[in-house]
Amino acid sequence: MIGIFALLAAATLPISQAQTRLLSDYNNRLNSYFDMKQQGITGNCIVQPRCSNEVSLIVKSLFTASILKPYRFVICSGGHTPYAGASNIENGVTIDLQYISAVNYDAKNSSVKVRPGATWDDSSVGVGGLTLGGGISYFSPEQGLISDNVLEFEVTSHPDLFMVLKRGNNNFGIVTSFQFRMFSYDGMWGGLVIYPETAIHAQFKALINFANNIEKNLKGAAIVMPVYQSAVGADLILNAYDYPEPVWRPAAYNEFVAIPGNISDTTGLRNVFPRTGAQGVMTKAHKIYLDVLAKLKAKVTGDWEIYVLYQPQPPSYWQKSLEGGGNVLGLERFNGQVLCLYQPYISWQGAEQDKLFQKAGADLIKPICDYAESIGADNPYLCLDYADNTQDPLKGYGEENVKKMKAAAKKYDPFGVFQNLVPGDFKISKVD
Ligand SMILES: Cc1cc2nc3c(=O)[nH]c(=O)nc-3n(C[C@H](O)[C@H](O)[C@H](O)COP(=O)(O)OP(=O)(O)OC[C@H]3O[C@@H](n4cnc5c(N)ncnc54)[C@H](O)[C@@H]3O)c2cc1C
Repeated sequence: MIGIFALLAAATLPISQAQTRLLSDYNNRLNSYFDMKQQGITGNCIVQPRCSNEVSLIVKSLFTASILKPYRFVICSGGHTPYAGASNIENGVTIDLQYISAVNYDAKNSSVKVRPGATWDDSSVGVGGLTLGGGISYFSPEQGLISDNVLEFEVTSHPDLFMVLKRGNNNFGIVTSFQFRMFSYDGMWGGLVIYPETAIHAQFKALINFANNIEKNLKGAAIVMPVYQSAVGADLILNAYDYPEPVWRPAAYNEFVAIPGNISDTTGLRNVFPRTGAQGVMTKAHKIYLDVLAKLKAKVTGDWEIYVLYQPQPPSYWQKSLEGGGNVLGLERFNGQVLCLYQPYISWQGAEQDKLFQKAGADLIKPICDYAESIGADNPYLCLDYADNTQDPLKGYGEENVKKMKAAAKKYDPFGVFQNLVPGDFKISKVD
């Protein structure tokens, strides 16, 4: 079936022309999902509202219809979640917000109102999902997480919800507008530098020193990413640097820059650039990665790729949050520790290889969690924007915050519409 609003718009065309156009609109939208597994889901209907009132009408209609038989639905902004069922649904309705995408600058209040279907920069990542999951940006070291830059959510302006929506994902309603605070920006330095895999230990050492000194220099961010792409056929390390000020090679990156033997270097001054614990834990994680990689190379067919991302998250990422009214992450619990985000990402072809790759994903995560725990270097916080659907990032917000979120869900959604009818992603009612 086709989105009902698109269907109304096409009602003036001859039937065969309308059907052809609608089918191609429907297929184009499916193909625009970032992940192939989401692309493969052909639900009952994609609904494409054009304004907040239509969103509200759709939710009310689905809720009313559900009195007889539950109508499950999902919300899609950019459709960038990399697993099936988060923003597309089998036997259900997808509320697709891509046409609610206006961006309006408010000079008087030095803020900008952005609708959820807008996408970040020239990527296809949606403003809706990324902001509600927390959101890490080039500016996070200095300006905090993206959700902590929201002044108001249009779903309700109730203060209880304001707090829980900052990382509350789709648990409390459909957000139809975000009002963000503004800050000045004059350009940046950054880019990608590629090394052979043999440089990994020097990279980890540089990354740890970079993270430990970041409080002295609040602007910079760095990611170290071991990567293998079957099409390239080489074990590589991809480093991404971004420093949101037009300063050539800031001193904070000196240790990285001194590592010899890079294969390519795209760093430079630019407007923006496309981003494609302890050293013992990283070293162990890398060993596990090499083992998993060797097993995959021996068995896999077709094109595939694997990235493992190491990205330090110093306290400055969340200190801003308290100034802006707080959020539900509870990262203050960790007494100013520098955390390091670890995220494997694998893509492959052919459903017959799903089990093999899913096991590889689990093998990359479970042993490293066990190892970190055994040496007291683990942390319960999981970044929701990057989490897999086999994980439970909401639990990692800590007991107090889980209680707050459960109470808000009960109070503002007494019939449990967003807990029971919206299955995609992480549900606060399911957290023990
Ligand atoms: C290649 C790649 C690069 C990435 N880069 C970054 C990065 O730099 N920083 C970062 O923090 N994350 C990054 N991510 C993770 C990304 O933030 C999440 O995948 C995010 O959820 C995508 O948002 P979306 O709107 O495109 O997703 P969607 O799949 O449309 O939605 C994601 C979730 O949010 C919910 N949702 C979406 N819109 C709304 C709304 N308006 N109201 C209520 N619920 C809503 C959906 O129900 C769904 O559960 C990246 C992911 C990929 C695959």
